[in-house]
Amino acid sequence: MIPYGRQDITEADIEAVVAVLRSDFLTQGPMSPRFEQAVANHVGARHALAVNSATSALHIACLALGLGQGDWLWTTPITFVASANCGLYCGAQIDFVDIDAVTYNLCPKALQAKLEVAEREGRLPKVVVAVHLCGQACDMAAIHALGQRYGFKIIEDASHAIGGKYQGEFIGNGRYSDITVFSFHPVKIITTAEGGMALTNDDTLASRMALLRSHGITRDQELMTHEPDGAWYYQQVDLGFNYRMTELQAALGVSQMERLDQFVARRHELARRYNGLLSNLPVLTPWQHPDSYSGLHLYVIRLKLDQIQATHREVFESLREQGIGVNLHYIPVHTQPYYRRMGFKAGDFPQAEQYYAEAISLPMFQTMTDVQQDEVVAAVREAVGA
Ligand SMILES: *Cc1c(COP(=O)(O)O)cnc(C)c1O
Repeated sequence: MIPYGRQDITEADIEAVVAVLRSDFLTQGPMSPRFEQAVANHVGARHALAVNSATSALHIACLALGLGQGDWLWTTPITFVASANCGLYCGAQIDFVDIDAVTYNLCPKALQAKLEVAEREGRLPKVVVAVHLCGQACDMAAIHALGQRYGFKIIEDASHAIGGKYQGEFIGNGRYSDITVFSFHPVKIITTAEGGMALTNDDTLASRMALLRSHGITRDQELMTHEPDGAWYYQQVDLGFNYRMTELQAALGVSQMERLDQFVARRHELARRYNGLLSNLPVLTPWQHPDSYSGLHLYVIRLKLDQIQATHREVFESLREQGIGVNLHYIPVHTQPYYRRMGFKAGDFPQAEQYYAEAISLPMFQTMTDVQQDEVVAAVREAVGA
């Protein structure tokens, strides 16, 4: 089976992890700060906090922004459930904004229309989570302008997008948002096995997230209510979690970061090749906005079902039977049973649902060979009966 995504691990990566195993610190040592520095420097952010997953990063990002009971978090239905769940963890309510039919990202026009209604009804969101689907940045300038107008905070869920650019600058530099989150799950662009990171240019948000990452405990005297009792002393000043990243993971991250640009460049080569090879088949290849240099975590095609004698499901199953590990990113979050129980239903977000009825993620990972890619394209041709 050719998987839809997979990690790229070299001997240097392995040696970096083994070196940590032989060192004094398996956690809370020098590697996590080094990894944070490497990512922050690369993307141009002031602060970076390594954590044990992007889900954890989203959670502490929401808390740092003050999201809580009585608040609303809005995001796109076409995302992994974590982009919405993070709001529920904080006791907030969730709503969704439909996607743009061409980029598949949260649609700024739909956002504006929904904000106008929400303003009249007095239920404006406190936080909007903009997800850079497949690695292509959302229209951040437009979303940011709406944030200024309606007073919401912005989290970029850039789990798909490390190494990508928006308007010529690296995603994660925070020009149009308060906090950006990356994921380092093995299917993503670089990996630390499990892992994530929250980046911000705001000193206060960074120090809040640092507290929340580690039990709400501080050794910083300035954050304490009184002078330390002694050299052993720390204070718990907030209710935090244990969301720390281990040194093994951080070392892998540092090592992977050295190849990030190469990884993204290879993904672009593969995408260009797919675009050419698929051009005469009844499928829609991913449209790229001129402002975007995508991280290309995913390569999603949409089936032109009116030109195909098979259903979406039959095409998908044919691909799997032919040994192609295709996937579908994503099942619209509002149609998940847990979200339906909150009152969401099929039909609420028609563009997202239309996308779901046609989308298939083809294999896309940097170690994929041209031969494997030819195999995928041949299987697509067979599956669509072209
Ligand atoms: C993978 C992913 C997450 C969660 O990342 P973890 O590191 O697995 O917690 C969140 N949002 C999106 C869009 C993702 O793709």
